[in-house]
Formats: sequence, C-alpha cells, structure tokens
Amino acid sequence: MGKILLTLILAVIALLTFKSLLGKSRPPPPADRGRTGMAERMVRCSRCGVHLPESESMQRDGETLCRTPEQCLRRENA
Ligand SMILES: [Zn+2]
Repeated sequence: MGKILLTLILAVIALLTFKSLLGKSRPPPPADRGRTGMAERMVRCSRCGVHLPESESMQRDGETLCRTPEQCLRRENA
C-alpha cells in the first residue's frame, strides 16, 4: 500500500513539473495580451469611412463595415 502511495505522489510531482515547464516555454495567449490595454482596437468602415470599435463592426466580403446598414447609412447622411 505504501509503495502505491509513493508512486502516486511521485507521478503527481512529475506531472506538475512537466506542466510548469510546458507553461514557461509557451508565450502568453493572444487574448491575454489584447486585454492588457483597456482601449479596444479601432477599425474603419470601408463604406462610410467612420472609425468604430471592432466589436461594433462586422466583416462582409473581406470588408469591415458598420454592424448594421442602418447605422452605416445614418452616419453617411450626417
Ligand atoms: Zn459604415
């Protein structure tokens, strides 16, 4: 019984060491780096030319546009 417990403990230690080594060699995920700055990435609508946060934009046919056509047209008329 004691031997099994010892083997189990050693296995856990080996696993934790392996995991920490793996974590150090890997660069931080891009999502974390993007969150370090509070400012959101700004994009430019290719239809009306207005600058807007990326979350308020949409991608269509490889172009960045305002999220809704109504929003885009309203800005175009203003
Ligand atoms: Zn637009």
